[in-house]
Amino acid sequence: MNQPKARRSQLISTYGIGGLFPSSTTSYMIAGLHDWKEDRAEPVSEPRLARSLKVSELKQPPAGGRKDVPVIRFPYTQVCPTCRRIGRLHELSKDWNVAECSKDKQPLNPFRLIVACRRGHIDEFPYFQWLHRGQGNASSDHSMKLEARGRTSSLADLVLTCTCGVASRNLDGAVGPLPEFGSCRGAREVSPS
Ligand SMILES: [Zn+2]
Ligand SMILES: [Zn+2]
Ligand SMILES: [Zn+2]
Repeated sequence: MNQPKARRSQLISTYGIGGLFPSSTTSYMIAGLHDWKEDRAEPVSEPRLARSLKVSELKQPPAGGRKDVPVIRFPYTQVCPTCRRIGRLHELSKDWNVAECSKDKQPLNPFRLIVACRRGHIDEFPYFQWLHRGQGNASSDHSMKLEARGRTSSLADLVLTCTCGVASRNLDGAVGPLPEFGSCRGAREVSPS
């Protein structure tokens, strides 16, 4: 697997915990502190700053080794820019370590929409449920595509289709509250609630 690299300064600014980190082939999310190797984090001697923050000690992000900073692959939903298939990484790619379309060998793009709840959880956008409106028959074959139909890149011009024959649906309205999908599954917690 390609090891994504970040500078230490980036880890306390742009790519903090819960930040989406792009690598050349896919995207990752920086995991929560409970997944970090604390013994690899060097202390920072700033006693006055530590006191004013009401913490006992300050540490800097580990750097220099492999897998210093724990990441998860996120979002897992990918789109092929060529054949326009949308699916989970393992559905579109032969090797889940390489985000590459198994049909046309094009690099896959992470799907841009994700969902979050007020308690700080984050999850994949429910694109299957969005298109099938809760009617998806598990016995049918569902091979979905995300097609760009208009000239703008607005959500209304991005249209989901499926081989099962369900009526296509664009993504208009996909940004904002999504009450039709029920409550959060609490899949990933990115900030303490
Ligand atoms: Zn493809
Ligand atoms: Zn379907
Ligand atoms: Zn939640």
